[in-house]
Amino acid sequence: MKIDLITLFPEMCEAVLGESIIGRAQKSEALEINCVQLRDFAHDKHRRVDDTVYGGGMGMLMKCEPIALCYENICEKRGCKPHFVYMSPQGKPLTQQRLKELSELENICVLAGHYEGVDQRVIDEFIDEEISIGDYVLTGGELPALVFIDALSRLVSGVLSNDECFTEESHFGGLLEYPQYTKPQVWRGVEVPPVLYSGDHRKVDRWRYEHSLLNTAKKRPDMLEKLELSEDDRQILSNNGM
Ligand code: SAM
Repeated sequence: MKIDLITLFPEMCEAVLGESIIGRAQKSEALEINCVQLRDFAHDKHRRVDDTVYGGGMGMLMKCEPIALCYENICEKRGCKPHFVYMSPQGKPLTQQRLKELSELENICVLAGHYEGVDQRVIDEFIDEEISIGDYVLTGGELPALVFIDALSRLVSGVLSNDECFTEESHFGGLLEYPQYTKPQVWRGVEVPPVLYSGDHRKVDRWRYEHSLLNTAKKRPDMLEKLELSEDDRQILSNNGM
C-alpha cells in the first residue's frame, strides 16, 4: 500500500512513522508512506495555507488551492486518484471493519487539518471520506492521521510478521481478546490459569474463546448486542452469571 499524508508537520509525522513496526515495514517495502508538506503548494509570497473565515469568527481556515494543488500533484506522481481521506471530528467514527475494507486499497491519501478546519469547497470537490477518531476535538489532524495510518498499516499484508496476529485481536471478529499472561507462572501468589500451560491446544482454544466472550460481556456489552450468539455462547454466559 502507498500512503500519502498531507500535513503542515511532516517531520513530526515522519518521526513517529519511522519507528517500530511501521518503520520496519517501510524499510522492507511492504508499505510506502510519504509525508508531504502542504506549504510547498502555497504559491503566494507568504506561502499562506490559511485565511480568515467568511461570516466572521476568531479562527482561521485552511485554504482550498494549496490542498487542491497538493492532491493533484500526488495523483500525477502516483498515476491514479488515491482514495482521499480527511481526518475530521465530523467524520464517521473509525472502526476495525472500515480499516479492514480500506486495507485492500493500493493507494490512500490522508489530509490532516488544522486551525478551524478546511474550506468546505475543497471537501466537496476532492474528499472521498471524512474519518473521525472519536467524539472529541484535537488541535490538529496529525495525531488522528497517525492513529489511522498505524491501525490501517498493520492490516496490510507483510507489515506484521504473522498475518494471523490481528485476526485474534480485539474487534477483529466482533469480540474483545481473551486475557493473556507471561512468565512467571506464579506472580505475587497469583497463578496463570493452569489450562494455558497444560499443552492441550484444544482446551486452550476453548478457554480463550470463552474468556473472549466473557471479557466482551463484562467490558463492552454493546458489542455483544451486535452479534448473533449461538446456544453454546448463551450457555457460557449464563454459567458465568451473565
Ligand atoms: N472546527 C472544526 C469542527 O468543529 O469540526 C474542528 C477543527 S480541529 C480544531 C482542527 C483539525 O483537527 C481538523 O481539521 C481535523 O483534521 C483534526 N481533528 C480534530 N479532532 C479530530 C477527530 N476527533 N478526529 C479526526 N480529526 C480531528
